[in-house]
Amino acid sequence: MSKANEPGLVVDGVSVGYGPVRALRGVTLEVPARSVVAVLGGNGAGKTTLLRAVSRTLGFHGGAVTSGTVDFGGRRIGGLSADRVVAAGVCQVPEGRRVFARMTVADNLRAGALGSHGSRADKAAALRRVHELFPVLADRAQQRAGLLSGGEQQMLAVGRALMAAPKLLLLDEPSLGLAPLMAARIADTIREINAQGVSVLLVEQNAALALRLASHAYVLEVGEITLHGRADELAGSDEVRRRYLGVVDETAASDAAAATGGAAHTPTLSRWGGAR
Ligand code: ATP
Repeated sequence: MSKANEPGLVVDGVSVGYGPVRALRGVTLEVPARSVVAVLGGNGAGKTTLLRAVSRTLGFHGGAVTSGTVDFGGRRIGGLSADRVVAAGVCQVPEGRRVFARMTVADNLRAGALGSHGSRADKAAALRRVHELFPVLADRAQQRAGLLSGGEQQMLAVGRALMAAPKLLLLDEPSLGLAPLMAARIADTIREINAQGVSVLLVEQNAALALRLASHAYVLEVGEITLHGRADELAGSDEVRRRYLGVVDETAASDAAAATGGAAHTPTLSRWGGAR
C-alpha cells in the first residue's frame, strides 16, 4: 500500500474559548503522516489548549472550539468524542505525566489499551513494543506507578499512550522537569517511536530539544501562530534564537558594550531547561 499521500493531521482556523477567555485564535497547522512537528511557545501561549482541541478533551476543562476544523487521516475528527478520537488513532500524553499513582505499572499500561479496538494479540504486541522501548517498565511491572522517578513516570505516560497503538501521538512537554540526561533519553525514544511509523505533534518550552526532533515547527504566541517553517530554518532565525533558544542579541550587546566603552564581551549562549 502506498503511504506517500497518506493524509495526516490538518488543523484549520481553529479558535478556542474557555468561557470568555480566548485561548486560540485561527490556528492552522499540519502534521504530515509519519513526521514530527513541534509547537513552541512560552507559558500560557495555548500549547496545551491546541492538543486538547485535537484530542477533543477541551470539554473536560470547560473549553470549546468556537470555529475551525480538525481532520485526521482524511476524516473530520473535530466532531467526535474523546474516546472516538483515540479509536481513530490519536492519543495524547498529558503534561505532568499523569499516571495513576496508586495503580501498578502493569495496570497503568492495561488502562492505556482500553481505548483501543485491537484484538488481544494486538494488545500483547503493543505491550511487547512498550517493554522493548522502555525495559524499566517491564522490570517494575508490579510496582506502584507513584514510586517511579519523574523520568520513569514520563516513560510510563508515553508507554500508556502507545498501548492504544496510535498513528499520531500528541506530546505535551515531555521534557518538563526532567534532568538534561533524562530529557535526552525521552527525545531518543520519541525519535524511535516516530521511526516505527507514528506521527508526533510535540509541544515544548524546551525549544532546543523540540527543534532537534522535529522536521517542521510552529511558534504559538498568545493563542496565535506567529511563525512556522522547517525546524532547521526556525532554529537559525534571529527571533527564535533570541526568544526561545535564549541566545543573547549579540549586536545589541556589542552596541551596549561600545556605548559604555565596555571591554570586549563573549556572547552568552544558554538554553531553557538546560544548565545555566
Ligand atoms: P503552559 O506551558 O504554561 O502549560 P500553554 O501554552 O500550554 O501554557 P494553555 O494551558 O493552553 O497554555 O493556556 C492558554 C490560555 O488558556 C491561558 O491564558 C490559560 O490561562 C487559559 N486556560 C487554560 N486552561 C484553562 C481552563 N481550564 N479554564 C480557563 N482558562 C484556561
